Amino acid sequence: MNTAELPENPYFLLTPGPLSTSKSVKAAMLRDWCTWDDDYNIDVVQEIRKGLISLATKSQEYTSILMQGSGTFSVEATIGSVLPPDGKLLVLSNGAYGQRLAQIAQRLKIDTVVHDSGEIEPPDLELLERTLQSDKKITHVVVVHCETTTGMLNPIEDIGRISKKYNKIYIVDAMSSFGGIPMDIGELDIDFMISSANKCIQGVPGFGFILARKEVLVKTSGFARSLSLDLYDQWKTLEEGNGKWRYTSPTHTVRAFLQAMKELHEEGGVGKRYERYRENHQILVDGMNELGINCLLPKSYQSPIITSFNSPNSPSYDFKKFYTKLKAKGFVIYPGKVSTADTFRIGNIGHVFPDDFRSLIKCVADSIFW
Ligand SMILES: *Cc1c(COP(=O)(O)O)cnc(C)c1O
Repeated sequence: MNTAELPENPYFLLTPGPLSTSKSVKAAMLRDWCTWDDDYNIDVVQEIRKGLISLATKSQEYTSILMQGSGTFSVEATIGSVLPPDGKLLVLSNGAYGQRLAQIAQRLKIDTVVHDSGEIEPPDLELLERTLQSDKKITHVVVVHCETTTGMLNPIEDIGRISKKYNKIYIVDAMSSFGGIPMDIGELDIDFMISSANKCIQGVPGFGFILARKEVLVKTSGFARSLSLDLYDQWKTLEEGNGKWRYTSPTHTVRAFLQAMKELHEEGGVGKRYERYRENHQILVDGMNELGINCLLPKSYQSPIITSFNSPNSPSYDFKKFYTKLKAKGFVIYPGKVSTADTFRIGNIGHVFPDDFRSLIKCVADSIFW
């Protein structure tokens, strides 16, 4: 189809998912698919499952599972399905998404210990090591890679090394970084990595996915604390049915995701996308700094995905007015989520480019004070 005929979106979503997608991704949704036909299962679902593995690692030890729902459903499916009944989870948290990991485990009545390093500090690696040394009941360690609350990038390599030294199963919520930051989950020794369709791969919302080390996954049969979020059963059905999901799959979203993966490949892969995101981020931060608006986090902790800015300390600043003015100019931003500081956030992932950020900075200059 001629995508030029599709309407323009009234604004960019500078939010960390859903985010702005290309017209060709949206156009891929304009047909209906049969969930049990090979055209859908082998050509679309199996191609996506294979493609995800090759994006994630060079290792042959991994498989992929797609799961209906938003990203949180895939996190809950993983935590609820991979810990044995007597398992114990250590959660490293420094933001709302880390807290959500703990909340999921606690709701599922999983024995859980939480190390909360506050919102603007990385996890305490010495405490992690001491805890794994002394608490022999811990079986699994989980952490968020890019904590979207602040934009902090957590040291998943160090955490993995320490967790593996004590033979723990290692789970990473890489929801807002996978596809946008180069990583090899085999080299990082991650057993389960979770992400979703509407983040750096630049698809639309509707499902999440899990990359799992196969030999660890196959030992989790029967552990699930939920029927619809049973990761092992979902995998088994996908494997045996050649891409058939248990229960109805979000066919249009899945088809759009395949298109998004093709576009990631056409862009030059994750490395190139990372460069674009970094450039977007640099233009954003430099421009904001020139306007006197500073980042919440020190540069060494900051991801090139989403950035928290300290709100201007001025009586003529009001987030709601700033937001509304900026939206009218074509940019939707995000309120802050840090409890200890007055901030707002701007995401720079999605189908958005350096020139869009140059325009954004001009619009911020015209909108931030009233
Ligand atoms: C987006 C995101 C999630 C999932 O959020 P949903 O609203 O359920 O899609 C989980 N963890 C992180 C770090 C995220 O950025």
